[in-house]
Amino acid sequence: MFSGTNLPRVGNYNYNVVLSLIQASDGISRVEIANDTGLTAQTVGVIVRRLIQEGIVHESGSSPSAGGKPRTILRIIPTSAYAVGIHFDPREMSIVVVDMTGQRLAHSHREVSPVLDPEVLIEQGAMTVHRLLRELGVPAERVLGVGAACPGPIDQGQGQVTSPPRLDRWTEVPIKRLLRKYVGFDVVVDNDANAAAIGERWSGHGRTSSDFAYLYMGTGIGGAMFLSKNIYRGVSRNAGEFGHLIVEPNGTPCYCGNRGCLEAMSNPAAIVKNVHAELAMGHRSSLAAAYEQSPALVDHVTVCKAAASGDVVARRAIDRSAELVAQCAVLIANAIDVELLVIGGKSILHVEEIYRQKAAEYLQTQPLARKMHTVRVAISEVGVDGAALGAASLVLHAAYAPDTGDLTSG
Ligand SMILES: [Zn+2]
Repeated sequence: MFSGTNLPRVGNYNYNVVLSLIQASDGISRVEIANDTGLTAQTVGVIVRRLIQEGIVHESGSSPSAGGKPRTILRIIPTSAYAVGIHFDPREMSIVVVDMTGQRLAHSHREVSPVLDPEVLIEQGAMTVHRLLRELGVPAERVLGVGAACPGPIDQGQGQVTSPPRLDRWTEVPIKRLLRKYVGFDVVVDNDANAAAIGERWSGHGRTSSDFAYLYMGTGIGGAMFLSKNIYRGVSRNAGEFGHLIVEPNGTPCYCGNRGCLEAMSNPAAIVKNVHAELAMGHRSSLAAAYEQSPALVDHVTVCKAAASGDVVARRAIDRSAELVAQCAVLIANAIDVELLVIGGKSILHVEEIYRQKAAEYLQTQPLARKMHTVRVAISEVGVDGAALGAASLVLHAAYAPDTGDLTSG
């Protein structure tokens, strides 16, 4: 956990340290907070009193302590604040509303035509946000803000996406400004992988891990790093591009200019291409009839479902992809020595276990530090809505994480 500081002028930082600790716990006492943060009992007492007065935290039962009197347990009040998350993907838009604990209360999902004007989509998204809040009966003054997750790279200064690989019309669209204009709340923008990792930190495996890497398998492949309990963003805030780690020298050319990136070798389109190539050669497969009728029928979801039910051709393609992901996992473990790798995103749906097992196998046998510890592998608990849920968590994170400062009205 974060250490606090007892200097009087950084009270706000300590406030966020304490709040963040209560949020990440399943109930915690004042004594435990003081022990974990290094803050004095008096400082903790003052901050907790303020959190209770503000209606964010309440006292909820007590726990026995060794030899002493029972300790009062503190918990977050879920209805004290809300956040909204929107995930803009090349193919779809997902919107969620979460409470102060990161729990999803409402959700909307729609397919998006790639030719739709981004400003029109943002305006429609804003209307959906207001409808969901109205249906939930959430008062506007309790909404902390709206988080938007988009494929990277993101120019945080401008609040816009810069030349996204599969979103031609979104190049230099000022998402932050437009969303703020239509939705009327503060807006924070981040790439989808960072958002998904922050969602994992608030609601999933990341709650109990101080150092984890997140591999995001969406339409493309991205990643994020949570180091020492906070997201590591890098100089231009685009750290964690695990999809562009090279897993096969001289492999398939990638849009980034290199060859053999995990992204180029193992994204859904690459997997489908491999399966189509085998089917075109007449290999026996449960997908052969569909392919004969129209290759378009054998899409990525169909391949994943077929692999899960034992089709040899589909399974071979997913196994190959899982091996490349596992190689990438070893590169990550050697580079940043995390305790946990979380794999998430909708493109592993139906085949999660194949990816998890292969990565776990490689991580047990290959990283240099394997004798000191084994890197655990987990599938995202946040699920396929991970990026939208994560986008909402961005707002909670920006408002309450100790390095606060991201939530601006730009
Ligand atoms: Zn690349």
